Amino acid sequence: MKVTWDENVCIHAGKCVQGAPNVFKIEDGQFVIDTSADSEDNIKSVVAQCPSGALKVEE
Ligand code: SF4
Repeated sequence: MKVTWDENVCIHAGKCVQGAPNVFKIEDGQFVIDTSADSEDNIKSVVAQCPSGALKVEE
């Protein structure tokens, strides 16, 4: 499973970082997504809570 992020759509509400801090994080000023760091179910649920639609799950 892969999660994509569109920085032009993101409104920086922080739901992703709060919901799955091991998956969605800032490293060296870059937003990174590590889908191996949590369960697929939790990642999908966090993606669904993204208010802007910037995150998308690709199977
Ligand atoms: S939850 Fe969505 S809008 Fe909020 S910071 Fe994450 S990607 Fe951006």
